[in-house]
Amino acid sequence: MELWYTENHTDEVKFSIKVEEHLYSNQSKFQKIDVFKSNEFGTFFTLDGLMMVTEKDEFIYHDMIVHTALATNPNIKKVLVIGAGDGGTIRELTRYKTIEKIDLVEIDEEVVTVCQKFLPQTSEKLEDERVSMYFEDGLKFVRMTEKKYDLIIVDSTDPFGPGEGLFTAEFYGNCYKALSGEGILINQHESPYYDEFANNMKRAHKRIKEIFPICSVYQAHIPTYPSGHWLFGFASKKHDPIKDLKKEEWNKLGLKTKYYNTDLHVGCFALPNYVKEMLNNV
Ligand code: SAM
Repeated sequence: MELWYTENHTDEVKFSIKVEEHLYSNQSKFQKIDVFKSNEFGTFFTLDGLMMVTEKDEFIYHDMIVHTALATNPNIKKVLVIGAGDGGTIRELTRYKTIEKIDLVEIDEEVVTVCQKFLPQTSEKLEDERVSMYFEDGLKFVRMTEKKYDLIIVDSTDPFGPGEGLFTAEFYGNCYKALSGEGILINQHESPYYDEFANNMKRAHKRIKEIFPICSVYQAHIPTYPSGHWLFGFASKKHDPIKDLKKEEWNKLGLKTKYYNTDLHVGCFALPNYVKEMLNNV
């Protein structure tokens, strides 16, 4: 008998991966967590039946959510990460010796324990001494915090269930307040392709644009996310991701990356016309 993981990308489009073993399944306080083993994508985990991380393509998402900001401002020292319980974003951040402090705010502690057990590839650096973990709602955390960060990364689920609050104007406004004058906000920005995702993307862009003087969107190809075409938001008080790119400085660090490079950094902000139109019309 064959076992397949199937996810509805729309009501009329399905995406499937052949599964070798269903390794874990549990309803946490916040969401249903499943872990599967496959030949094509390695181990992968889902929340409420939606793909989060696969061993095979996670490098694309985690390179892009981290290095674009660090190559724009290599002096980032204090970082707040919201969501990201799989640890992939933290793994990439800890490669920078110059980063002094990383606060990770993940609503669901069970995501972290499950990833530590089944996905060491992403979770291996969660124990880094610069990382402090807070198991609470990111929306409430930024509402209350008096700290200032140089970078906030929103590595969240989609805008429903626990992730909903992380796409609100209140949340983005509080992120602005929690950022230093050098501050950069990076968020996973959904996809422009299928209507439901595109609507979420447009709404997020509109809200961020109303708050931040610099507000851009960049793209990556992520095979296991709906349509494969995924966007990230880059918003900032001061740094422009293209004009302020520190190409030589970043390359001198000698970080080996599988997806990101500084040529791609410039290219990923060049968007297809239909996406530009969507963003211009919000
Ligand atoms: N790369 C993934 C994607 O977009 O498919 C997201 C990675 S990560 C697993 C997303 C995490 O955000 C989840 O572990 C979830 O528990 C967490 N999360 C959702 N809502 C949150 C909230 N309000 N505060 C903090 N963490 C939240």
